[in-house]
Amino acid sequence: MDNAKDRTYQEELAKTRTELEMLYEIGNAMRTTLNLEEILYIILTAATSHTGLSFNRSMLFLVNKKENRLEGKMGIGPDSAEDASKIWTHIEKNKIGLEELIGVETQLDHLKKSKLNQAIKSIKIPIRENSGIIALTALEGMPFIINTPEAKQKVKDEYSILLDLDEFVTVPLKAKDNVIGVLLADNRFNQKPITTDAIRVLTMFANQAGLAIENSRLYEQTVVLSNSDSLTGLWNHGYFQYLLGEETKKSALVKSYFTLFMIDIDNFKTFNDTYGHQAGDNIIRKISEIFRDVSRKIDIVARYGGEEFAVILPITKKEEALILAERIRKAVETSPSLKNITISIGVASYPEDGQKKEDILARADKALYEAKRSGKNKICA
Ligand code: GH3
Ligand code: MG
Ligand code: MG
Repeated sequence: MDNAKDRTYQEELAKTRTELEMLYEIGNAMRTTLNLEEILYIILTAATSHTGLSFNRSMLFLVNKKENRLEGKMGIGPDSAEDASKIWTHIEKNKIGLEELIGVETQLDHLKKSKLNQAIKSIKIPIRENSGIIALTALEGMPFIINTPEAKQKVKDEYSILLDLDEFVTVPLKAKDNVIGVLLADNRFNQKPITTDAIRVLTMFANQAGLAIENSRLYEQTVVLSNSDSLTGLWNHGYFQYLLGEETKKSALVKSYFTLFMIDIDNFKTFNDTYGHQAGDNIIRKISEIFRDVSRKIDIVARYGGEEFAVILPITKKEEALILAERIRKAVETSPSLKNITISIGVASYPEDGQKKEDILARADKALYEAKRSGKNKICA
């Protein structure tokens, strides 16, 4: 072998080694958590850190199968060139490695303020041939590089404008043979051309990332299933107790507040005796749907026991909660599919009704008893 050839060979070898080490390091980082948000964050940080793939920005979209669309989940990168130079100077000066960049929990908080991240989260792209390059990446299951003036012109659409895209690369995220998302990366701020090497490594990385995402999703599904009540799909008693404890701890820590509803169906024994238990079960199911529909996204709705339910309303004072309680009571009373069925609601709030979760529960229970005693189909606090 002559010298020049030997040198290229050595260089290739060194490069491959660096790439493998990097993939290994990212793989290790991804194995530290099963939380989806954290996994996404690790993937995007790896794509943008200087010891990783060192793109300026990276963005991630996940397939929503039911809606047949891609949904923007997270975007990492400076919001402006100015921001970028500040961050990179800082990284260079302090030689920050991947591990420090990934300090997951605190960073996720910062991310909420990022304009890029907010823009990404607003994006929902139908998976069709005519809805742009990001959708096409998922449809075809292959990477695209947009780096010629013609290509740039051709892919201009509402998403590329919103994200201020110019030259960029997209790669599909795959788990087994399914495309589960799309990763997009660019060098918007230093304008460095995207190399074929970078695309190759990004593709390898995307397969690893796809599997990590899939695992975390499966895990989260299992957690949801094992903590749900099988008749209604609401959180079960055990998980409710856990969540109430967490809510109490959190509220104490950040000096916040929350309200708890205990709900019981009125005269349900009579209903069962008249129409049978199966009809009774249907009522429990329908009532659960109403609770889910009427409550807000942040509220936690659980089946406490047989025909008893509990709702935790985070960051909600009693006054506001009472309006919601009335909305729920009224929805049941007036529902055409729940003729002659009514409920009673007991209300208690943290911290005014107690400091411990047991105290809040006991107070809500007592209020419920009072609602029953004073005539039912009503709310007591
Ligand atoms: P009150 O207005 O005081 O609440 O009267 P109630 O008859 O509803 O009394 P209670 O709250 O003690 O209700 C218990 C009854 O609820 C017993 C049982 O007939 C019925 N029940 C409890 N769990 C279930 C269930 O899972 N399915 C069905 N169909 N009925 C249930
Ligand atoms: Mg009861
Ligand atoms: Mg009852």
